Amino acid sequence: MREKLNTLNTKTALIIGAGIGGLATSIRLAIKGYQVKVFEANSYAGGKLTAFEKKGYRFDAGPSLFTMPHYIDELFKLAGKNPKDHFNYQKMETACHYFWEDGTTFKAHAETEKFASEASKTFDVSKSVVLNKLKHAQFLYQKTGKIFMEKSLHKTSTWFSKEVADALLRLPKYDLYKTMHEANAMLKNPKLTQLFDRYATYNGSSPYLAPGILNVIPHLEHGIGTFLPHGGMHAITTSLVQLPKDLGVEFNFNSPVEKLETNNGKVTGAIINGEVKTADLYVTNMDVVPTYRKLIPQEKAPEKTLKQERSSSALIFYWGIKKDFPQLDLHNILFSENYKAEFDHLFQQKTLYHDPTVYINITSKYEVNDAPKGCENWFVMINSPANVGQDWDNMIPIAREHIIQKINKVLKTDITPLVEVEEILEPRTIESKSSSYQGALYGAASNNKFAAFLRHPNFNRKLKNLFHVGGSVHPGGGIPLCLLSAKIVDDLTPTA
Ligand SMILES: Cc1cc2nc3c(=O)[nH]c(=O)nc-3n(C[C@H](O)[C@H](O)[C@H](O)COP(=O)(O)OP(=O)(O)OC[C@H]3O[C@@H](n4cnc5c(N)ncnc54)[C@H](O)[C@@H]3O)c2cc1C
Repeated sequence: MREKLNTLNTKTALIIGAGIGGLATSIRLAIKGYQVKVFEANSYAGGKLTAFEKKGYRFDAGPSLFTMPHYIDELFKLAGKNPKDHFNYQKMETACHYFWEDGTTFKAHAETEKFASEASKTFDVSKSVVLNKLKHAQFLYQKTGKIFMEKSLHKTSTWFSKEVADALLRLPKYDLYKTMHEANAMLKNPKLTQLFDRYATYNGSSPYLAPGILNVIPHLEHGIGTFLPHGGMHAITTSLVQLPKDLGVEFNFNSPVEKLETNNGKVTGAIINGEVKTADLYVTNMDVVPTYRKLIPQEKAPEKTLKQERSSSALIFYWGIKKDFPQLDLHNILFSENYKAEFDHLFQQKTLYHDPTVYINITSKYEVNDAPKGCENWFVMINSPANVGQDWDNMIPIAREHIIQKINKVLKTDITPLVEVEEILEPRTIESKSSSYQGALYGAASNNKFAAFLRHPNFNRKLKNLFHVGGSVHPGGGIPLCLLSAKIVDDLTPTA
């Protein structure tokens, strides 16, 4: 059976996947006048940004750090609605609590002056060194942010603007020829350097390989801020599903798109549950690698792009903990004693390190209903290599022991008997639940200075009516960039 989506004589759009990129695109195309239908393989929306409950504990399953909320507000405003009526969040005073095994702790204030004052005392460096570091991050954001994040790098028009000419003039200041770690060495204290190196993990890369221009990331946290949505991270998904529904977008769950039919440089239909659905334009929120390999194997794939090294994946333990830990906050990092060795294991040896950096996220610190009274909902994550067939069944229990040892050392408490609920997410299940190639969190890694240019564009060079959104394509992974991929597709597509 061949069903045309167009029932009203307006143009139609078919979106493959209801991850953040797919949801934002559905909103933008509906506002533009398209009749939009979303087909999602899972029984739920949100892709990686989902949540679950177990025995009185609520857990956000995927992202835990929320930056640049204005890109979500923008979607409500575009639809003529007041964002505050639909989606609310608070700005966090503290960006993160950091812990080292020698007993050093550091509460990273979000606000720049306070951060620099405290860092100066804790790490015995001058306040101006820290302030200069954050100023440089702001400079990188102001000069390159708009070009790299908000525009298609693959359209010549992007390169003939005043902004680009201005940015190119300052090229030597972007630390393109240093790694992030080399550029951060100016902080003159190994712990403070480690703290800034950690921002490489925000797009799944290694600070010892990624170019210094990525030292723009701290500006997002300290210049713009970190936020917590009311109701937890999953509120992002629920609000971004309701808005397109209100705009008339139709959602079809348990509906994996099996294949795209193509002819003469265009997609001519999508095969879903054995039926062919047709539309004027198609947007894939599926990871770009399986999009080529599974949906359009008949088309020549851009092999160089698809063979880019994947970003890191993650191993997460969701633990219901029957105790309060006042020394912990929303975001907590327990650093490895040997950061270089940890990243060598992740990206060179493609395995887990015995002394991993452990991240603990606890939303119940602010959302009291997320855990029973006197208890906490711990999201405990370590970075892991992408899934290339490692023996995860062996590696995960060993990693669990290492994580517990690390937490016990830093918190000086044996947490083993306190874990009353446990669920696990790992590279294989990240891959199977969201079709993300090798379970990578952010598509390709940014471990070389050309990575930004080697990401797949938001349009398809061969198929004129196919567009790409989400974390595996330009401008990159993470919630804000996925939202921006939808904005770029909005710019690239005609009104209905
Ligand atoms: C553990 C973890 C922690 C993270 N932490 C953060 C963080 O703190 N902050 C942050 O900003 N980001 C974080 N990220 C990254 C962030 O979650 C992703 O970049 C973002 O959610 C990806 O969105 P997406 O649009 O690419 O879609 P995805 O979430 O990848 O979803 C794609 C959707 O498409 C569907 N789909 C795929 N193929 C098909 C098909 N053929 N037919 C129909 N449907 C299909 C899938 O089922 C899925 O629902 C984290 C990710 C994980 C997993």
